[in-house]
Parts: sequence; structure tokens; C-alpha cells
Amino acid sequence: MSYDVDLFVIGGGSGGVRAARTAAATGAKVALAEDSRMGGTCVIRGCVPKKLMVFASEFRESAHLAQQYGWSATAGDFNWTQFRTKLNDELDRLENVYRNLLNGSDVAIHDARATMKDAHTVSLSNGETVTAETILVATGGRPVRPDQTNAHLGMVSDDIFNMETLPKSILIIGGGYIASEFACILNGLGVQVTQYYRGAQILRGFDDEARGLVADMMQEKGIDLHLGTNIVEMRAAADMDDDMRAPMGAPVPEAGPDAVGKPVWVKATNGDARVYDAVMFATGRAPNSHGLGLEDLGVQINRRGAIEVDDYSKTAVDNIYAIGDVTDRIQLTPVAIREGMAFTETVYKNNPTKPDHELVASAVFTQPELGTVGLTEEQAREIEPIDVYCTSFRPMRSAFADRPDRVLMKLVVSKETRVVLGCQIVAEGAGELIQMVGIAIKAGLTKEDFDRTYAVHPTMSEELVTMQNPVRSA
Ligand code: NDP
Repeated sequence: MSYDVDLFVIGGGSGGVRAARTAAATGAKVALAEDSRMGGTCVIRGCVPKKLMVFASEFRESAHLAQQYGWSATAGDFNWTQFRTKLNDELDRLENVYRNLLNGSDVAIHDARATMKDAHTVSLSNGETVTAETILVATGGRPVRPDQTNAHLGMVSDDIFNMETLPKSILIIGGGYIASEFACILNGLGVQVTQYYRGAQILRGFDDEARGLVADMMQEKGIDLHLGTNIVEMRAAADMDDDMRAPMGAPVPEAGPDAVGKPVWVKATNGDARVYDAVMFATGRAPNSHGLGLEDLGVQINRRGAIEVDDYSKTAVDNIYAIGDVTDRIQLTPVAIREGMAFTETVYKNNPTKPDHELVASAVFTQPELGTVGLTEEQAREIEPIDVYCTSFRPMRSAFADRPDRVLMKLVVSKETRVVLGCQIVAEGAGELIQMVGIAIKAGLTKEDFDRTYAVHPTMSEELVTMQNPVRSA
């Protein structure tokens, strides 16, 4: 049976684009459909614009620091409109880069929404139909709001980049990557930030000591962080009485769509009730797996909405594969890219390859950043006896300026093999540092390998090769 194309990729994000290009490079005839902007979450509404906002948000503190070093610098006011215009220009440029990469690889682009008609036929929203031998679903995920009356009054991360004006105050709900990163970004830009997290400490799943330090530093920098706290009620502030207090016992009106992005009155579990210029939900992301016609074909979708795949990213249907956030394995761009490359090896290079999900280094771009690779102290302790090497100190650059910043460097080491099982860094630039440590840990190096590495002096990271004695064993 002959098909229009060998491979049809649904979704033009990091994973889909990489799979399409690498497959096309083997000589396969490839088409790709994207119904939004090419580049997907990472490029258009995630990592890239977020990181540019991180950079923007750091200049106020840099100006304060510069003063301490003798400069007469002042940060002045931040111009959100100017920044957003430039940000949008940059995203347009990057979107074009992605399009050109696909065009240059001879991948046929369809700017349309794709759904499955049968296991080999894709229907496009522009009326076209394309048949393909193999289908790759790389549709990513989307931010979700909690099940809460009037939750639509709150923004999600997608909305942040499109705000018309910067709010004076914002309430951020959640304690994960996105909540904590945006709390720091907006705080740095001069917004009064309140963050509610329902659990005992933000960044659940990360090393306890590391996340504790990040939380302390965030509070030190002015973020009003409330742990063990959540929203009980929210309303458009315009619906409230003049004194902005909730009429006791009154039914909560469903706010109309015109109320979105306007001030919101929020009542919290800790009894607080006040108006914020904006509310942002950073309460997790859901896979974009429904509405594609996959279930009817026999593709299995789990309770969390993720497409179930085997070790080679194959779904329950023989010719349909899925990679990236829609499979909810590890929601990180570099992982989706690797999954896309492993797919090409398996399907088009006759080299069955499982994507490697071990020892994935990552960073949370809070201020300070948290870089992590391998096991946390808590995870390692559950597996085998360990030695923990850890140091926390005031870094030279900010100590000179009398700032209270602290950094943390931690190595978790197997007692038996001396292999370094994990590294945690809380510091300015921890994302850059953990990338390098990630190589050593991926290579399976021991603490003694770290020890015989020369220190680069004076740096913060020299501590990683100079920690002599474990602070504790477990
Ligand atoms: P996370 O799953 O990391 O965090 C969701 C947060 O929302 C948790 O703190 C969770 O609490 C809380 N939450 C969930 N439901 C509710 C609710 N109903 N009410 C109150 N709080 C709630 O999701 P994110 O959206 O922050 O990020 C999604 C993924 O994107 C991350 O896992 C990460 O893989 C990726 N990402 C990576 C980045 C990076 O590499 N720097 C940056 C941004 C995102 P609890 O802990 O109690 O469950």
C-alpha cells in the first residue's frame, strides 16, 4: 500500500520538529502539522520567553549591586511595553528559524489542526487529507487551572507573555517550577508578589535543603510566600462591595469573560481576603492527547491524560508513536528532543533505541537558581548508604555588597562505590554549573575523581572539588 508520506508528525514543538528533521534526513518523506505557532511551548510560550524575562528581571538587583561596587547606577523604571514588543519580535524571528529548518529539511508544513481519521489517515482543519505510513504525535501539553469557581479569572503561564500592562500586585498559586520561576521574575520586575503553595515547602520532589534555601532567598528578596495555603474563593473585584469585602454567605457569581485580566478578590485558607491586580495559576500542565481521534484507534491514554507508550515511544497501535510532554515522561525540552531522535533511530535507521531518561540534569530558574542532577539526598537515602558532602556560604560577589545571599553545593555519594549519585546547586548561574557537573555524574565519576580535579580559584563552584569530609552519612 502506498501512502502520501512516510511520516506525519502532529505538533511543531521541540520534539516534533527534531523528529521530523532527523527522519527527513534519512530520506523519508515527512509532513508536519502545527495549528499554532511553530516552535511549540518551549520557544513560543515557555522556556525561551521565560528566560528572556528572567534576564529582564535581574537588572534592578544588578543596579543595586553596582552601587555597592561604587557605580552611580540606578535601574529606573521597567518599561513592559517596550520589552514585550522586543520579545515578540524575537519570538517571530525564532518561529521563522524553525520554519526554515523544516523547509530546509524538505518537511512539508501544514499550518492546520490535525486529527486522525484512521490509523494511516490524517484530516486537516483546512479540509485536506494526508495518508502516512507512520504517525508521530508530539502535541505537548497545556497549563491547567484548578477546579475552582471563577478560576478563569486567573491567568496561566501562556497569558503572562501577552499581558497589556504589568500588574502592580499578583497572587501566584502553586509551588512548582512555573510558580516559583514567575514569582521571582515578577518580583524582580517590581510587581508585588504573593505566592500560595498548598504543601509544606515549594518545589516538591527537589532536595529538601536546596528547596528550603531557595524559599528562604525568595522571601528575602520580597516574595510574600505562604506555605500550607490555597484559595477558597475568588471573584472579579468589580463584583464586590466598595470595601472589597465578600458579602458573607452570598452566592459566588460566575464572572463574565470581560472580567479576565482585571483585579480579583481572593479569600485564602489562612483567612486573608484581599484584591490582587492579577492572579496566576501555575498548578500543573496536562497532556494535549484528547480530541485527536486517538482513543477510537486503540491508542491508550492514561488517567492523567498521557498517551501510553513503550520503551521505544510506540503506542498500542503499531504505526502510531508519541513523544514529548503528551507522553508525560519527563516534561523537559531536551528530553522531548532526545525522544524524537531515538524515534528516528528506531523507525528510520534500523537501530532500535530507547530514549535515555536517566540522570537528566535540569535547573529551576528561580533567583537564585536551583540546578539538579541525579538523586536528591532523600531519594538516595532510600536506596543505599550514602555520604553527604555539603557546603553553604555567602558568595564573594554579593557578600562584598553586604547582601545576605547564600549558595549551596551538595554532592550525594554512594558509601560503597564512592560514585557521585547526585548534585544539587543553589546559586546564581546554577543552571550553567549543573550542565557541567551533569557530564561528570553521567560518566559515573567517583568523589575521588572530583577530589583530584583542580579547583578554579576564586569561584563558587570550586567548592564542588574541595569538600573534604561528609557533613553526614545516612
Ligand atoms: P508542577 O507540577 O511542577 O507544579 C504544579 C504545582 O501546582 C505544584 O506545586 C502543585 O502542588 C500545585 N497544584 C496542583 N494542583 C493544585 C491545586 N488544585 N491547588 C493548588 N495547587 C495545586 O507544574 P508546573 O506547571 O510548574 O510545571 C510543569 C512542568 O513543566 C514541570 O514539571 C517541568 O517538568 C516543566 N518545566 C520545566 C522548567 C525548567 O526546566 N526550568 C520550567 C517550567 C516548567 P503539589 O506539589 O502539592 O502537587
